[in-house]
Amino acid sequence: MTRILWAISTAGVIGCLGPEPADLVITNARVYTMTWPDPDGEGQPAPGAPRDATGWHPDAEAVAIRGTTVAFVGSAAQAQTLVGPKTTTVDLNGGTLVPGLIDSHTHVVELSSNLSRVNLVGVTTEAEAVAKIAERAANVSKGEWIIGYGWDEGAWATRYPTMTILTERVPDHPVYLRSLHGFAGWGNRLAFERAGITRSTVPPTGGQILRDAQGEATGVVLNRAVELFDQAVPAAVGAELERQLAVALDTMAGRGYTAIHEAGTYSAGLAAFEALGRAGRLPVRVYAMLSARDTALARRWIARGPRRDDSAMVQVRSVKAYYDGALGSRGARLLEDYSDRPGHRGVSGGSYGFDQGLVSDLMAAGFQVGIHAIGDAGNREVLDFLESVYRRLPRTRDLRHRIEHAQVLHPDDIPRLSRALLIASMEPPHAVEDMAWAEERLGPERVKGAYAWRSLRRAGTRLILNSDLPGSDWDFFYGFHAAVTRRDRALEPAGGWYPAERLTPEEALRGYTVWPTYASFSEGLSGTIAVGRQADLTGLDLDPLAVGEREPDRLVGGRPMLTVTAGRVVFRRPR
Ligand SMILES: [Zn+2]
Repeated sequence: MTRILWAISTAGVIGCLGPEPADLVITNARVYTMTWPDPDGEGQPAPGAPRDATGWHPDAEAVAIRGTTVAFVGSAAQAQTLVGPKTTTVDLNGGTLVPGLIDSHTHVVELSSNLSRVNLVGVTTEAEAVAKIAERAANVSKGEWIIGYGWDEGAWATRYPTMTILTERVPDHPVYLRSLHGFAGWGNRLAFERAGITRSTVPPTGGQILRDAQGEATGVVLNRAVELFDQAVPAAVGAELERQLAVALDTMAGRGYTAIHEAGTYSAGLAAFEALGRAGRLPVRVYAMLSARDTALARRWIARGPRRDDSAMVQVRSVKAYYDGALGSRGARLLEDYSDRPGHRGVSGGSYGFDQGLVSDLMAAGFQVGIHAIGDAGNREVLDFLESVYRRLPRTRDLRHRIEHAQVLHPDDIPRLSRALLIASMEPPHAVEDMAWAEERLGPERVKGAYAWRSLRRAGTRLILNSDLPGSDWDFFYGFHAAVTRRDRALEPAGGWYPAERLTPEEALRGYTVWPTYASFSEGLSGTIAVGRQADLTGLDLDPLAVGEREPDRLVGGRPMLTVTAGRVVFRRPR
């Protein structure tokens, strides 16, 4: 509804000066409001969708914003009437405007420290990784830690590196190199000494220290054993963490995101997000899912209860827990043996540090839980667990619980997610990154239930899409392209990997915009472009619906142009 500005003239006559000017007008845009109903389980658009025989068509040209909310959506001509002397006008030059992008599973705290670490993403050999570390060591005082990240534990699993060459080349600094997905760590001798890992160290349950025939650690730890290093490596806290986080969140805004769901927030991270929020320095909204591994934090919030303040930039009403490991490092719990390792099924539940009592207490206190589950056994056990809590505490059923990844599902379990009102929180990038080895782990039958987006949608499951950054690239068009084609950046394989599980462009766009708002209890506040909604908007240089349908090869070249969070322009691509 348009507000009218009334003024009293000197003659005392009350007159209407026309509509109150907007603070921000975005015009000359292909606006998709996403206000029409959801497509069906096969991806068929709803009757009200702005699509005809020739394809998708935007349903508005311009948006006007007052304060933090949308004040007008419609034609460019009408928007022009809301431009006053103090209005900022953004001409999108025919670009596409969609509801603000949401990355609904992130580790931005890790991203923030990675930005100051040695980047090993894309490094394919041990020699290359060691050379990069030696180069960094030349500029760091002896005795100080050198941290790297990004070597791919899935791709390197056939032959893990050792500490030998790393120790020879970098003897005077403790070196710890986290893997891409955080399920493996590689260190030199000094790092193992600093972490106190000896012949007699017993790894945490669900973890493994790789050893030689004499029982000496060889240089790599797997799955939960990475905690031995996480505890030894000094972490940024306080003002330093805030500084690093501000950089990482600006990076997110620069990629078009207006909100993140931080999947596993510890005390220090939460304090830093809140401090940035108080200082008005958050360019994106933060849905902070508390880490169930931070038991003290979880217990404090159980006593306090979820925070339900819609206007706060930092929301605390959700918890992240881990049920099993990852598929690449063979930590995911499978119902049958790994196809490429007979006798091995991975670890889960209590053996993986999942605390049933704590998680059900959190649910009883009114928290949503997002449980990491990768293997078909891990997912089945999580379904069993949640159903058992529902039976005992029926009210917990409506808290919109999530399975994070839901990566490999037994066909019998696929219908169970929607029956249990669960949200499947999944990563299109994982499918196209894991396709190189996932079938070796799973074999030709089980792989059919992996990354099974269409099967889940067909079964009526709510789906949200995300990157799990920094393990995967969080570029929107990369994830979107993977979702609609099941192909990687190089457009391989030509027909898509198990293409029957593809999503339509509309489903993929909803998975990154409106659907995650249900998962964060903010549907009706944001996620669509409508008068009165929060002004969270993303401008893109190509139309993901029209291009996604007709020329999907072009998607990987798409870029964000504009990010508006709560009415504020937080990113604009320079012309
Ligand atoms: Zn994650």
